Amino acid sequence: MSVVFRMDAPYRGAYELHRLTFGSGSPTVSIVAGLHGYELTGLHAVNMLATMLRVQPPRGTVHLLPLVNTFGADEARKRWPFDDQDINRAFPGDPSGTAVQRIAHALLEHSTADVCVDVHSGAPHVRELPQVRVPLGGEELELGRAMKVPVVWRRPGDRLDATGLVGAWRLAGRRALVVEGGRGSTLDTSHSETIARGLAGLLAHMGVLPAGGGPGTLADVTHAQVAQHRADMGGFFVPEVRIGQQVAGGQLLGHVQAPVGGERLGELRARRKGIVMTLRAYPLVHAQELLVRIAELP
Ligand SMILES: [Zn+2]
Repeated sequence: MSVVFRMDAPYRGAYELHRLTFGSGSPTVSIVAGLHGYELTGLHAVNMLATMLRVQPPRGTVHLLPLVNTFGADEARKRWPFDDQDINRAFPGDPSGTAVQRIAHALLEHSTADVCVDVHSGAPHVRELPQVRVPLGGEELELGRAMKVPVVWRRPGDRLDATGLVGAWRLAGRRALVVEGGRGSTLDTSHSETIARGLAGLLAHMGVLPAGGGPGTLADVTHAQVAQHRADMGGFFVPEVRIGQQVAGGQLLGHVQAPVGGERLGELRARRKGIVMTLRAYPLVHAQELLVRIAELP
C-alpha cells in the first residue's frame, strides 16, 4: 500500500489517500470506492478483490483506492466533514483549492487507467441490489455486462456531469463504469461479495485475471424499464418483498401504515413484472419518496 496524496488536517492526523497496486504493464485498471464516506459495502468489496489479487497476480496493472473520504467514513457521513462538500461534485479539482478540490485533483491524477470503476452504495435509507450503470452502447456497456452482476442499468451518457468522478474520467478519454450496491452506513457482505466477483469478471473480460464474474444478470434494462414506485402518502412503510426478488405485475410490494396505531393507509403494487432492485430500508416515509424500484422484465 502506498500513500499517493497527503494533506495536513487542522487537528487530527493528516489526510492520506491510499492506493494498492497489483501487477505491472498494460492493460491498466483503477477501482475507486468510498468517495462517499459512509458507503462501506464498496470498501469491503475492493478489499475482497485485493485478497483475490494477492493469490492470483494480474496480467496488467490494477490500482485499488478503497476509501477516498476517510474523514467522512470516521463520522459515518457521506460528505467531507469540515465544509460538508461532496467530493463527487468537485472534479476535476484544484491542487491549490479547498480540501475537497485538492482530494479530487489528486484522485484524478492517481487513478489514470484504461478502464476505471467507481463503486458506491445506496443512501442509508435504501438498499440497492448490486448493479452496474453503463451508457446505452459501446465498449463500456460490454465491460459492464462482463461483470455479470444482478442488474445492468443502461443510462444516457449525457446525464453525467463532469464534476463527478465518472464524468471526469470519461472527459479524459477513459472508459468508466459506476457500480452500486448495498446500503449506506451498513455492511451487506453478500452484496460486497457480488461486487467483488463482478469486478473480477471485468478483469477476466480484459484478460487481467483468468476467471471471475458475479452470480449472473437478472435484468439488463434502460432507464425507461426501471419503474420508480413512490409513496402516495407519508407513513410507516412495511415491505412485503425482498431485494433481488422477482415480482409479478400487480404483486403487493408493501403497505404504508399509520406510524402510531398501525392502521393501513395504503398499499403499493408492482406495475409490471420485474426484479426488486431498490428497496426502502428506513420505514418512516414522506409522500413522494422512493419506496421500490423495479427493473422491469418483458
Ligand atoms: Zn455514493
